[in-house]
Amino acid sequence: MLDICLLGTGGMMPLPKRYLTSMMARYNGSSILIDCGEGTQIAMKEVGWSPKPIDVMLFTHYHADHISGLPGLLLGMGNAERTEPLTMVGPRGLEKVVNSLRVIAPELPFEIRFIELSGPAQDLQLCGLDIHAFRVNHNVTCYGYSIYVPRAGKFDPVAAKEKEIPVRCWNLLQKGQVVEMDGVTYTPDMVMGPKRRGIKVTYCTDTRPTNSIIESAKESDLFICEGMYGEPEKQKKAKEYKHMTFYEAADLAKKAQVKEMWLTHFSPSMPDGRRYMKDVRKIFPQAHLGRDGRMAELDFAED
Ligand SMILES: [Zn+2]
Ligand SMILES: [Zn+2]
Repeated sequence: MLDICLLGTGGMMPLPKRYLTSMMARYNGSSILIDCGEGTQIAMKEVGWSPKPIDVMLFTHYHADHISGLPGLLLGMGNAERTEPLTMVGPRGLEKVVNSLRVIAPELPFEIRFIELSGPAQDLQLCGLDIHAFRVNHNVTCYGYSIYVPRAGKFDPVAAKEKEIPVRCWNLLQKGQVVEMDGVTYTPDMVMGPKRRGIKVTYCTDTRPTNSIIESAKESDLFICEGMYGEPEKQKKAKEYKHMTFYEAADLAKKAQVKEMWLTHFSPSMPDGRRYMKDVRKIFPQAHLGRDGRMAELDFAED
């Protein structure tokens, strides 16, 4: 099971009742945070999620509305007596940006490991998840992320019996481990069927529409995408500032054939996006307006 929470949905600056854009995922005891604007730790407290188990932080880019909440959050994690290392992923310059912010949070009881992205795309394995980073098109280097929960194939007891694999090994083989017993080596592929479809969530913000988004978001269960402007007349502005309108986001969702889309990163000048959703759903019916604290529990599909 993958739990998703959209902590905030604001772009540029936090507003009363609208925190800055940030997403948190929980999987198998670990938490993953994407972006950390000012006030992210308050948004986290509001939904009752703890910062302590955050093992991975993914940064889209280094505009203040996506990272200025970091020093306070790190102090909060330190105060919660976290000691396990924390992995941070982001575009080139990550270590320099974080260390500059850490001048005001110098002493932490845990180590920070940095992974700096380069090139158009990069695949990482963290916390048992497959993370795909892909470059998008903003006015600074910016990446989107897909998080994928892999799912093993089905265990085949008939094959296990036919191959005379001791029952004592079955459980370990099902967990994907290679087992040696009485001088014989047993591998999971001897008893496991083909891999099944996992769970996929894609997140992108601060970008114009790109082919990399369509390719990376392909068939996601949930696609969280920026929609800076709902007003159709702001199309020109979206292009100029390298952002997107609701309609452009809906078009990406349609082309990527995702199951569901949530819009986020709203312009502070747009008080209520609801009035535009009827037209957005004409392009992509499973489109929803994100709101602070919106959650989803995503599970593997039934066989
Ligand atoms: Zn932004
Ligand atoms: Zn930006």
